[in-house]
Amino acid sequence: MEREVAWKSYTDAERAHLEQVSARYRAFLDNGKTERECVTEVVKLAEAKGYTNLEDKIARGEALKAGDKVYSDWMGKSIMLFIIGKAPMEKGINILGAHIDSPRMDVKQNPLYEDGGLAYLDTHYYGGIKNYQWVTIPLALHGVVVKKDGTVVTISVGEDENDPVFCVSDLLIHLSHERMGKPASDVIEGEQLDVIIGGAPLNDEDKEPVRRNAMKLIAEKYGIEEEDFLSAEIEVVPAGKARDLGFDRSMILAYGHDDRVCAYAQVEAMFDIDVVPEKTVCCILTDKEEIGSVGATGMRARFFENAIAEMMALHGEEGDLRLRRALTNSRMLSCDVSAGYDPNFASAFDKKNSAYLGRGVCFNKYTGSRGKSGSNDANAEYLADVRRVMDEGGVFFQTAELGKVNQGGGGTIAYICALYGMNVVDSGVAVLSMHAPWEIISKADLYEAYKGYKAFVLNA
Ligand code: MN
Ligand code: MN
Repeated sequence: MEREVAWKSYTDAERAHLEQVSARYRAFLDNGKTERECVTEVVKLAEAKGYTNLEDKIARGEALKAGDKVYSDWMGKSIMLFIIGKAPMEKGINILGAHIDSPRMDVKQNPLYEDGGLAYLDTHYYGGIKNYQWVTIPLALHGVVVKKDGTVVTISVGEDENDPVFCVSDLLIHLSHERMGKPASDVIEGEQLDVIIGGAPLNDEDKEPVRRNAMKLIAEKYGIEEEDFLSAEIEVVPAGKARDLGFDRSMILAYGHDDRVCAYAQVEAMFDIDVVPEKTVCCILTDKEEIGSVGATGMRARFFENAIAEMMALHGEEGDLRLRRALTNSRMLSCDVSAGYDPNFASAFDKKNSAYLGRGVCFNKYTGSRGKSGSNDANAEYLADVRRVMDEGGVFFQTAELGKVNQGGGGTIAYICALYGMNVVDSGVAVLSMHAPWEIISKADLYEAYKGYKAFVLNA
């Protein structure tokens, strides 16, 4: 049973719309290379679409009514968008959830050193990466340094074509005889992911003149001192913009499709809702998924539940029991990328249970590894209703597993929301080269995800 390719179905108008959505998505990626930058961008876009800050409503004790659009910014690293529905929230909320953190290298707390006449920033990688993919490519630095007085200094260098970039070096092939025989996991070790940031010394006799020169330039540019790295979050990411891929421009090559493609499809769906929905609609964009959804800004923290409780209080639905009912009666698409079938590595996939680029939004009944371990295995009854919603919405969709049995595995935020007892299923966009510095998606899958997510929140 093969699923159809979405491309063949498009009218000229749909094709034009698909290109508009894709262009907006590329801009979102270019403006959001970190979770913080994504939140800043979503706040900007949401306010332009008439969303107001939930915090302000709470501070003013302002009642929420059907049709109201609010957002809740959680520590600048996770964010939720809501449209209040006609029905009481107790009846359940239709939820879309994705993550906006992506694999990368984080600058260590004590990062600066000099060796061999070069200055380096030491890093600790974040999320699952193949270390060897992150050497010899142009890199950019994005993040914040927070000074002791609370001043937040924003850093973004390496994206403008006049900016310098940074790089992790690799050993020349001529001297790599021994190294080429190593397993791929050991060719570049985690501690070797140190980023070159300078090569010219200060003009004096003291030690480490290159390191001190680099620090002097950083201090001048950002008004910070070396000790301020102790309270900084600086992410090293691939430098450069998202690009159309292929002569037919059917795909996008970019950093951070996992999971910003689903995050953006959700945002596009939310912004495209111009009716007052029956049920309250929610879009969660969360941090820390790539390291297990931990920490105060990860999905395991209670910010989502707390925001619902605050909203219910402003909606005349106060009380713990009502909150519990709202959560358990909710329905969710846990939107995260899926492994796209790669003919170059066919042996890793079960062809009839794989996601193919261009065949639409993907549903994963279960993920997990070694016998579905750690998976949210969605109910058949729920999947049946999701199929109905997709078919009624004219959405191209496909179903997939994450590769062959026992090839590996992975998790998402689905199991965390399922703890409330709500129906959740994983849904997303197929990606090639997932977690590589540059990942590949099909524009058709982005478009069908946006259509599917909109159909879900309005009709589930
Ligand atoms: Mn993901
Ligand atoms: Mn991932």
